[in-house]
Amino acid sequence: MAYKISDECIACGACAAECPVEAISEGDDKYVIDEDLCVECGACASACPVGAPSND
Ligand code: SF4
Ligand code: SF4
Repeated sequence: MAYKISDECIACGACAAECPVEAISEGDDKYVIDEDLCVECGACASACPVGAPSND
């Protein structure tokens, strides 16, 4: 299941820099993940300071 970014996101951009497939981009008020590109590696979750990305 693709990762998603919750409203906890503070738009720091750390996750986008770590994503190996460039699936993360800046949205209106938070970063967003393109579910069609995400390969579920978890790098975004590891990089995030507030735990916003998850695939629960
Ligand atoms: Fe990118 Fe991996 Fe996060 Fe998916 S889980 S958005 S591939 S860093
Ligand atoms: Fe948002 Fe976390 Fe990504 Fe920073 S690392 S842009 S807080 S999801």
